[in-house]
Amino acid sequence: MPVNIYNKEVVKIETYKNYIDGKWTSSQTRKTFFSLNPATEQPIGNFQDSDENDVEAAVLAAEKSFPLWRDTPAPKRAEILFKIRDLLKEEKDRLAKLEVKEMGKVYKEAAGDVQEAIDIFEYMAGEGRRLFGRTTPSELRNKFNATIRTPIGVVGLITPWNFPIAIPSWKLAPALICGNTMIFKPSSDTPLCGIELMKIMIKADLPKGVVNLVTGSGKKVGTPMIRHPRIHGLSFTGSRDTGKFIRENAGLKKVNLELGSKNAIIIMEDANLNLALEGVLWGAFGTTGQRCTAASRIIVHEKVFNKFEKMLVNVAKKLRVGYGLNKSTDIGPLINKAALQKSYLYTDIGKKEGAKLLCGGKGIKGKGFFFKPTIFTNVNPLSRLAQEEIFGPITVLIKIKNIDEAIKVCNGIKYGLSSAIYTENMKYAFRAINELEFGITYVNSSTIGAEVHLPFGGTKDTGWGKEAGWSLDEFSEEKAIYIDFSGRLQKAQGIN
Ligand code: NAD
Repeated sequence: MPVNIYNKEVVKIETYKNYIDGKWTSSQTRKTFFSLNPATEQPIGNFQDSDENDVEAAVLAAEKSFPLWRDTPAPKRAEILFKIRDLLKEEKDRLAKLEVKEMGKVYKEAAGDVQEAIDIFEYMAGEGRRLFGRTTPSELRNKFNATIRTPIGVVGLITPWNFPIAIPSWKLAPALICGNTMIFKPSSDTPLCGIELMKIMIKADLPKGVVNLVTGSGKKVGTPMIRHPRIHGLSFTGSRDTGKFIRENAGLKKVNLELGSKNAIIIMEDANLNLALEGVLWGAFGTTGQRCTAASRIIVHEKVFNKFEKMLVNVAKKLRVGYGLNKSTDIGPLINKAALQKSYLYTDIGKKEGAKLLCGGKGIKGKGFFFKPTIFTNVNPLSRLAQEEIFGPITVLIKIKNIDEAIKVCNGIKYGLSSAIYTENMKYAFRAINELEFGITYVNSSTIGAEVHLPFGGTKDTGWGKEAGWSLDEFSEEKAIYIDFSGRLQKAQGIN
């Protein structure tokens, strides 16, 4: 049996199954794939390499369970969500450790990921006693008008690996409270986190067929979901390219897309530089730069540019890269070999484009997909290094002369998820709030740190729709109800 090189623990390789119609089921393909620990490159589990036949079985199960779940009163559905929240709380430490092993982020961040799941299940359970519709006047006498929220039906949830417990929960909790039934496909880099989340939902007495989990590749499981004629809603988080493919292939489904970004922190001449430094380190290198909200562009006023550059490089060089379960580690590995190669590739691209490498730019010898915190300066805001999402521990420094230029550079990108400004000047702060074309703007805080009860989503190529607390609209329809108690046919628009 393989041995974990860090703590010599024997790694048991268990085979995990799909969960369809209340049963753990092998894929009809009879094929499986491994998920690896990115710090050790050891396999941590064996999973079903499913295909469209498994998707079809999951859709049938979701269709079968839909009437019962839809007709379960929302406050009763909420009781199950509260139970899921409680179980997540009980299992937080175990799940966080598992997440470190499968995804690679450091323990405290993995615990934060589980906490986000706890928060969203709690928040959405509360919606069970709201799910408000509206009442409106009618233009006619003796007529009552209102709206109610109804579920979409069978929905597909396709998720990435970087928040392997939180992001599925951001979709599962609202989809469940609204009364949908679903097919959940976790990323093939983190299927075990998906399986453990499924086990918790089962333990919380979720009726069979309401959530059906199918593991496998984007091509063989994700694409059949996207094209499936009886899946009526899709919620996707992942890369821009996959999002574009979904848009072109999902037909007329209701689709919510949460895609990539190239976020920025603006540091003005009056900023508290120590505070900004903490924000930049957290934004650029937290989760090894693998957050959709990562601060991959740092836009600094020329008056403080040299000083801030020195401060940043000085600390970044001291960050400790290593296994996420070691308490001394600041930065864990990248998710896989392809991600490591991408960081090398963009380091080369940056050098070729004439940017100056200040630190990092290379990996670490031995096992694991580690890459050192990397900072480039003298970066042209229109270069590939400053425009394309790298999703690694690489950030760039861009010099600006004033607030107009800062806003122009910040907005000069095809994405629009998260932005931040460090300043003590109210005018600068409000200009940023008004003019930055991003779904999120922070003042005197980093680009990361979303709370679940606010909307989460981006502009431009970051996709559309809102996740987290404001996602009920993504998972329900607001149905119009007209009740005529006049006893005769009344025609609207003044028709007699
Ligand atoms: P990805 O697009 O490669 O994969 C995401 C999911 O889609 C996976 O489950 C994958 O198997 C599936 N998939 C891939 N190709 C598919 C296809 N052709 N058809 C159907 N499904 C397919 O993304 P990733 O590498 O897992 O995640 C990283 C990306 O996610 C980054 O771009 C990041 O910015 C983005 N992200 C965005 C947000 C957000 O809220 N905006 C949050 C986290 C991550």
